[in-house]
Amino acid sequence: MILGDIYIRGIEFPLTVKGVTVLDSDGNYNVYINILLSYDTQQKATKHEITHIKKEHFYDYEPVIHNELEANAV
Ligand SMILES: [Zn+2]
Repeated sequence: MILGDIYIRGIEFPLTVKGVTVLDSDGNYNVYINILLSYDTQQKATKHEITHIKKEHFYDYEPVIHNELEANAV
């Protein structure tokens, strides 16, 4: 179950960063996707970040590497 709202915004990041999700103090998820990447890569990055949210990675204590593998497996 997702507890908060999800806001997706485009932003310019260094090219090594595809997307970032920030959980704010209201429990909402702010997803920032790098608009310098191709459309296709932006779509994949968005899906990846949403998978993190759906799998509740922001509330678990699994190592980051485990959560990255789980998000990439979708
Ligand atoms: Zn990730």
